[in-house]
Amino acid sequence: MVPVMSLWVPILLSAVIVFVASFIIHMVLPYHHSDVGKAPAEDEIMDALRKAGVTPGDYMIPCAGGPKQMKDPAFCEKMKKGPVAVMTVMPSGPPSMGASLVQWFLYCVVVGVFAAYIAGRALEPETSYLRVFRFAGCTAFVGYALALWQDSIWWKRKWSTTIKNTFDGLVYALLTAWISGAVRAYSAAAHPHSPARSARPGSWPGNAADRRIRMKAGIHPVYKLQTMHCGSCGNEWQLRTTQESNNVDGKVHIEICSGCHPFYTGKQKLMDKAGRVERFRRRYSKKSDKGAPSETPAETPAETPETATS
Ligand SMILES: [Zn+2]
Repeated sequence: MVPVMSLWVPILLSAVIVFVASFIIHMVLPYHHSDVGKAPAEDEIMDALRKAGVTPGDYMIPCAGGPKQMKDPAFCEKMKKGPVAVMTVMPSGPPSMGASLVQWFLYCVVVGVFAAYIAGRALEPETSYLRVFRFAGCTAFVGYALALWQDSIWWKRKWSTTIKNTFDGLVYALLTAWISGAVRAYSAAAHPHSPARSARPGSWPGNAADRRIRMKAGIHPVYKLQTMHCGSCGNEWQLRTTQESNNVDGKVHIEICSGCHPFYTGKQKLMDKAGRVERFRRRYSKKSDKGAPSETPAETPAETPETATS
C-alpha cells in the first residue's frame, strides 16, 4: 500500500498533462467542431426566447412538470407536434472561459486523486510500471468517460458526441496511467532507499510496513488454537501455537508443564519414569560399594529420594 498523500506529484502532473491535452483536442484538432450545430432562424429563436423572458437555467420543452402530468392530453399534443428540446440557457455576455478552466483543472486533480488512491491501495511499493499503468489508467478512464454515457441515454445527446468524449477520456486516462507509472519508475530509480527499491526481495527492509509486504506466502506454519496435554500431571489447556499435534487424540503432548515442574511448584519431586536414577544407583553401588549391593533396589519406587533432596 502507498498512501495517497505521498502521490501528490503524479496527481498534479497528470492533471497538468490532461489539461494541456484537452486544450489541444478542443482547440487544435477539428473533430469536436461538429458537436453542436447552428439552429435555423437563430435570430428569430433568440428574439422569441428574449421576449419570453427566459433566464439562465435548464429547460425541457415542452415540460410536463411531473410524472402524473405526462399523460395530460395537451402535453402529449405538444410532444407530438414538437420540436422537443433540452435547453441550457447560459448567462448573457462575452464568452469567458476562466471559471470553467479552473473547474476543469480541479476536476482533473480529483480524477487523479482517485486513480492514485486505487493504485496506491491495490499495489505494494515494489511494483512494475505496467501494473501502476493498469490501475491508474482504468480508474482515470472510468472517471473521465463512463458517466458521460448517461447524457446520451437520458438526455438524447448525440451518441457520436458521447463516443468522441469517451475517446477523449481514453486519451486522458492513458496520459494519467503513463505519468503514474513513469513517476513510480523514476522514484524507484532516483531514490535507492525508497520503499520502492528497498522492498525488493533480498534487500534489507526499510520499516515494519515493508517487512509485512515482503512476507512470502505459503511457507509459514499455521498458527492455530491447540489443546496441550501434560504427560506428567495430566494438565490440559488451550494455546495458540504453530506446533502440530503429536498424538492420535489431536492434542499436543508434552512431558512437563508449569503445573508440575518443580521450578513452579516449589516441591522438588520428579517422576523418574524411565528408571534412569535407579539404574545409575545400581551400577554405582556395584562398582564402588560391593559390600552393600542390595541397598538400592529396596528404595526404588517411581519417586527417587535423590531428587527430593536440595
Ligand atoms: Zn504437568
